[in-house]
Amino acid sequence: MKWTKEMTNQLIKLWNEGFTISEIGHIIGISRNAVVGKAHRLKLTKRKVGMKAKSKEIKHTLYDLPRSGCLWPVDNDQYGRHTFCGERRIMGKSYCEHHQSRAYVKKKLKPIKIDKYILS
Ligand SMILES: [Zn+2]
Repeated sequence: MKWTKEMTNQLIKLWNEGFTISEIGHIIGISRNAVVGKAHRLKLTKRKVGMKAKSKEIKHTLYDLPRSGCLWPVDNDQYGRHTFCGERRIMGKSYCEHHQSRAYVKKKLKPIKIDKYILS
């Protein structure tokens, strides 16, 4: 594949802003491997890896959510995008073990709320 100057500049910009490799690939419209290869050639490998980068890894946007990732909404990231838990889901469920139990409690509470609403 051919890298245009615009794509290279965009890669550098997104990389420095702390986007994940998957996100950069998605935004530019290229594969993860292409991002990694180009970043390596540009010597972009030295990224500031601190607490922020670590917490970013836990959050997943819809773009980089693993196929079997938990769909529990966490919150919005610094770019205002919805993020999800992303932990391995229970087979056949939408959530990981931790969030599945929370979802279950939520469902159990629902009828009580409805009763209150009817009574008032
Ligand atoms: Zn989860």
